[in-house]
Amino acid sequence: MRDAPITTDLLIVGAGPVGLFAVFEAGLLGLSCHLVDNLDKIGGQCAELYPEKPIYDIPAVPFCTGQGLIDALVEQAAPFNPSYHLQDQVAEMIPQDKGRYRVTTREGLHFDAGALVIAAGAGAFVPRRPLLDGIQDYEAQGQVIYAVRNREALRGKRLVIQGGGDSALDWTLDLLEIASHITLVHRRDGFKAAPASVARMKALAEAGKIDFKLGQITALEGQAGQLSGVLLKGLDGETEVLASDVLLPLLGLKMELGAIAHWGLELTRDPQNKEVIAVDTEKFQTSIPGVYAIGDINYYPGKLKLILSGFHEAALMAHAAYGYIYPDKKIRFQYSSASTDLQAKLGVSKAAPTAAPAA
Ligand code: FAD
Repeated sequence: MRDAPITTDLLIVGAGPVGLFAVFEAGLLGLSCHLVDNLDKIGGQCAELYPEKPIYDIPAVPFCTGQGLIDALVEQAAPFNPSYHLQDQVAEMIPQDKGRYRVTTREGLHFDAGALVIAAGAGAFVPRRPLLDGIQDYEAQGQVIYAVRNREALRGKRLVIQGGGDSALDWTLDLLEIASHITLVHRRDGFKAAPASVARMKALAEAGKIDFKLGQITALEGQAGQLSGVLLKGLDGETEVLASDVLLPLLGLKMELGAIAHWGLELTRDPQNKEVIAVDTEKFQTSIPGVYAIGDINYYPGKLKLILSGFHEAALMAHAAYGYIYPDKKIRFQYSSASTDLQAKLGVSKAAPTAAPAA
């Protein structure tokens, strides 16, 4: 745990499109923002699930891609210098004096925030883990890993890569030069990965440069967290041991509400029966004062899970959060087209902004 807490007006959980627009709306009011996201990149579902797909229903933007929208939102938020803390998840939330909140993260950051904004979408994207006895011991030793953060750490290792999507195929091809041996395991001879990657992998297997096996991994072998092999049950029902130092299950991501579910917030179910956070429609405040929920993570009667709904929610939330953090200060309603104060904050006018509230 690092010593000094990071002080901020708003701690935003989730750097998806709605969390990003919240930075902009909060910034116009002079509120500082830190964002924590579980992913290794900014952009939530747009960047992770459909970066190349076209979006047609962003107001006044007839067409953009998922990644294009995120790039524009990041640029729009940039004048307010948000701090992004990626590959981390919020963990504990403890109410403090004067209505502030202390939040710790899994990676050991801790924040002292004036208000919390949960913009966590459908929850944190977490890797699908195979259901294998004792797998957590190997995970703890870095012998079962779900992402490659350090390629060099895999140099000279015998790798078993599991999966049939782009991640599994891309890493099989990428780690070929690094690993001493690679076995790719997939449960069927059909792939979600790009056909060109599949063709390259099959050519390498035919040339004897890698092994490609069809079947299910049923158990792990090793001692004291040191992996020595994985048991593979082939399509013919026969089991064999694949000698292995590291297993990479690359089976895709699922979404999890995670620690937020234990913060004591009133939860509800959306029409798809997903567990989400109940909010009011005036402030988008949860059942805990000073804790707001915007975007796909919330539900209220009439909610439409669209990016544009999240943008509206972000604007109202920012005004409410300002009043919560600075109850003695009044917001002067201003148009960005007319206000030299807002334009100065955005760096598009020479006028000095009026004093921003200290965090
Ligand atoms: P998300 O985009 O889900 O972002 C939430 C972020 O929070 C994620 O990055 C996640 O990692 C992070 N997070 C969650 N929990 C934690 C935690 N505990 N700690 C740290 N980080 C956490 N909408 C439209 O309006 N128009 C469209 O055309 C459209 N097309 C779509 C196409 C597809 C294929 C999909 C899947 C969705 C589409 N949507 C569309 C829906 C749209 O993407 C969502 O409404 C939008 O992404 C919600 O934004 P958000 O910021 O609320 O959440």
